[in-house]
Amino acid sequence: MTDILSKVQLYLDKVAKEPVKISDKMVEEFGEACKSALRKQFSEERRKEFKPRMSNIGRPLCQLQMEAKNVQGEGQPYNVKMRNTFGDLIEALAVFVLKSAGVKLEDEQKTVKYKFNGSSIEGRLDVKIDKKVWDIKSASPYSFEKKFGTAGGFEEVAKDDAFGYVSQGYLYSESEKIPFGGWIVINKSTGEWTICETPLADDQYRVKAIQDAKENLKALENKVPFKRCFNDIEETYRTKKTGNRVLGTICSFCPYKLPCWGSKLQLLRQQQSQGKNPKWVWYTDRRLQNWVRDSLRGLFLALTDDDIKVAIMGERGADVKLSKKAKKVFPYDIECKNTEGWKKIYDAYDQASSHGNNQPLVFIKMNHREPLVIVDAKHFMRLNNAGFLTEPVMVRYEKDRNK
Ligand code: SF4
Repeated sequence: MTDILSKVQLYLDKVAKEPVKISDKMVEEFGEACKSALRKQFSEERRKEFKPRMSNIGRPLCQLQMEAKNVQGEGQPYNVKMRNTFGDLIEALAVFVLKSAGVKLEDEQKTVKYKFNGSSIEGRLDVKIDKKVWDIKSASPYSFEKKFGTAGGFEEVAKDDAFGYVSQGYLYSESEKIPFGGWIVINKSTGEWTICETPLADDQYRVKAIQDAKENLKALENKVPFKRCFNDIEETYRTKKTGNRVLGTICSFCPYKLPCWGSKLQLLRQQQSQGKNPKWVWYTDRRLQNWVRDSLRGLFLALTDDDIKVAIMGERGADVKLSKKAKKVFPYDIECKNTEGWKKIYDAYDQASSHGNNQPLVFIKMNHREPLVIVDAKHFMRLNNAGFLTEPVMVRYEKDRNK
């Protein structure tokens, strides 16, 4: 166990109680680090071409491929420079505090190079302490606690490492032929510190981290065709499957999700939620809308895929879009709502079913509104189709639904 954290806490505790003497040299160094951070973030020309570096090579290959191809991702919000500058300034402050607290930095901001398979990759390690490489990170309260802190730990970071932090750390340390100590992490909201150390037996992580980096670098050099590293996942709402598919966390935060998933991606409020302000979800497949589209296609054989389409992301209006030609045979404006909030309506439908052997039919009404009719959707569609009744698409849905 390292004593970095206890030294820092003791020092900051002392500073909180009484003024302490600080080294002029360290104040100057801190000032210089802040100046470089400002120049780097505000006035330095950004590299136009993608270059693999230790700090990015451990990210998912699909994201690196997008970046290497210069694919236009989502634009950065206006506050990105503030955020990045906070990160650099916090790092500079962390170095000042570490030194002032008596933690001996054997090296800092050192440019390093690691060679493999005839290629090489560069990076700049943060600090060396006790003959180990340490990376300094500023973290949001959530990741401070759940990733790096007491509720997380090294394994937690390694398990879901979309930023490639593990490869980054081990590439620094391997290039210096000393162990990777882990991350010195500062909560950018509260100023708390934590140390997320590598486990004592970390061989498996080291080997995997270097292997991942090697494979990514090789794939980029060989221009391996793009392939998504992640699938969309089945959506669940209150532990029950909704039948819709959504992006997982890494894809949801990926700046390339739109070029990657294409027009089928839709950002919508959680479809089942009855809350006032449901969270936003990236949907890749909404089964009810697709069922309506496919069923109409199955019923009206003269219509094509261009006549009946599921609305794409950001499109206003009907959930299932009908062409003029389609509206002639099916003159409706369609809204699809799949929610658990319809229980009373289904109860009324079940009640109608229990009355006899005919098609169940429910009339509903609330004050100041016109009555509505609830009827089985397939029955309704058939009512609208005098001639061509085809079942295969509906049958397919029935099978899919039970998957
Ligand atoms: S959206 Fe997901 S699969 Fe596509 S590039 Fe991003 S991380 Fe990879």
